[in-house]
Amino acid sequence: MAERLRDSHSNWASRERGVPRGEVVIFDIDGVLADASARQHFLKGVRPDWDAFFERCHEDPLIEEAARLLQVIDRRYPIVLLTGRPVSVMELTIGWLNRYQLRWDLLIMRDYGDYAAARHFKARETARIRQAGLSPVLAFEDDVRNVEMFQAEGIPCVYMHSGYY
Ligand SMILES: [Mg+2]
Repeated sequence: MAERLRDSHSNWASRERGVPRGEVVIFDIDGVLADASARQHFLKGVRPDWDAFFERCHEDPLIEEAARLLQVIDRRYPIVLLTGRPVSVMELTIGWLNRYQLRWDLLIMRDYGDYAAARHFKARETARIRQAGLSPVLAFEDDVRNVEMFQAEGIPCVYMHSGYY
């Protein structure tokens, strides 16, 4: 069902009908839709274990309030999931989204070898979202640095508290 795009957009996946058009709403995943608190211990200590951290992403509980938000947002606004998770866990992430029957249209992940800080990665992808003809009208984030980035880009952003990011 979901289809990974090609070439320069291979870190994007569309759910069904290719890249949506028009005004869209952006959601972060970790700390917004997925409760990643049980994985945070992999990042503590001298050597953060990012592989272990991401490989267990499909075990995260759902954050019910954000799932409800997804349900009630008008269907005329396609949902873009913009996450700092790497493309190596794209299948796990799509499986998790399917398991909870979450609504989404475009999934954008961090490409192989992209170690930019999350706010830089998300700023770059936001520019590419706009280049693709989409207009983000609202975003949901748990990382204050990303909230500030969206607001600097003229996109209102709702801060959701997770206690980690
Ligand atoms: Mg987050």
